[in-house]
Amino acid sequence: MSDSKNRPNSDQRFESTRRQFIRTTALIASSAALVPLAANAQDNPAMLSEDDPTAIALGYRADATTVDLNKYPSKASDQLCSNCSLYASSGDGVGKCAAVPSRLVAGAGWCGAWNLAR
Ligand code: SF4
Repeated sequence: MSDSKNRPNSDQRFESTRRQFIRTTALIASSAALVPLAANAQDNPAMLSEDDPTAIALGYRADATTVDLNKYPSKASDQLCSNCSLYASSGDGVGKCAAVPSRLVAGAGWCGAWNLAR
């Protein structure tokens, strides 16, 4: 048996190269499609859900009037995300929060990390 029987012929080499080119092109195209989505997610993050583990850890409520005062007895009625030092309004009653950088929070919300904006 000679080595030439085990080596791919030119048609097989071309087919292998063509497949590799298609796979690589598809990978690049799909990666490029994800870049705008990632950028858009940072520009327009989703609202923080009260079920989010970070929200639970912070005691976040989208409506500050629903905060459990037995659990947070020092919470005053005028404490809102909108007057917290960590809040930056994005308009429409929502804003970015430095404690939860990947999500928007409700201006009428509250969490245990509230700190009066000066
Ligand atoms: S840190 Fe401030 S802005 Fe962020 S969720 Fe808590 S109260 Fe709202």
